[in-house]
Amino acid sequence: MDAPLLIFSDLDGTLLDHQGYSYAGAEQALARLRRLHCPLILTSSKTCAEILGLQRRLGLHEPFIVENGGGIFLPPGHPLEGRAGFAPLGECQGIRFGTPYATLRAVFEGLRGAYGLRGFGDMTTAEIMERTGLPREEAVAAARRDFSEPFVFLGEPRPAELAAQVAAQGLTVTRGGRFFHLMSAGQDKGRAVVATTRLFQAGRGSEWVTVGLGDAENDFPMLAAVTLPVLLPRPDGGYADLDLPGLRKAAWPGSRGWGAAVMGILDEYTSLA
Ligand SMILES: [Mg+2]
Repeated sequence: MDAPLLIFSDLDGTLLDHQGYSYAGAEQALARLRRLHCPLILTSSKTCAEILGLQRRLGLHEPFIVENGGGIFLPPGHPLEGRAGFAPLGECQGIRFGTPYATLRAVFEGLRGAYGLRGFGDMTTAEIMERTGLPREEAVAAARRDFSEPFVFLGEPRPAELAAQVAAQGLTVTRGGRFFHLMSAGQDKGRAVVATTRLFQAGRGSEWVTVGLGDAENDFPMLAAVTLPVLLPRPDGGYADLDLPGLRKAAWPGSRGWGAAVMGILDEYTSLA
């Protein structure tokens, strides 16, 4: 019998190309996942509003993990709505792990001058569009944050020093493909991946083989929490410094590498085309 696969994937630089956010290289693999009814759980530093929009474009109706594990959300009308742990969260139902955004911003504003920081909360929509390359509507969705503050260092980056300073407030700093992120210290993609896997396990009553795909440091906890971790190269072709048992390395960055890696796993773990 085929092993049921549960796939967790980062977006920026992984399913989506770093430049242009295209998923063209992954279309064939995405179509095959749909045919197999294989759940794809988007696991990103993006917001609920951003991922809801992307799920609609991809034709996906699955739980999703936002803001580096800050929360698990359900698209409206999902069968898991009302299940233990889920509560209304904005326009959806969700499970919260992260610190509320207003608290993060208060800490951020206290350190902004000393470290030369500029966060999403300081930027106009036009600046977010410029720094991310997102179209206007998606930049607006990116600014609607619940659990994390993406930021840049305007001068010399001092992420370790900043992380040590915010640790006293129960916060930490992680690095994504494009931005650093200030968030709760207990918050990472791995914890949310474990909780989501449990939800699927309970629903099916059998073991799922979990797959994780990511490209950056903020993906490491997700990759450590799955059976089959896949690391994609960064846009420059180099790989983030990660060593895990069974780690697979995709041959190309972005959607092309994603498509090839997922097709390879489907060839190994399923007998259907
Ligand atoms: Mg990424």
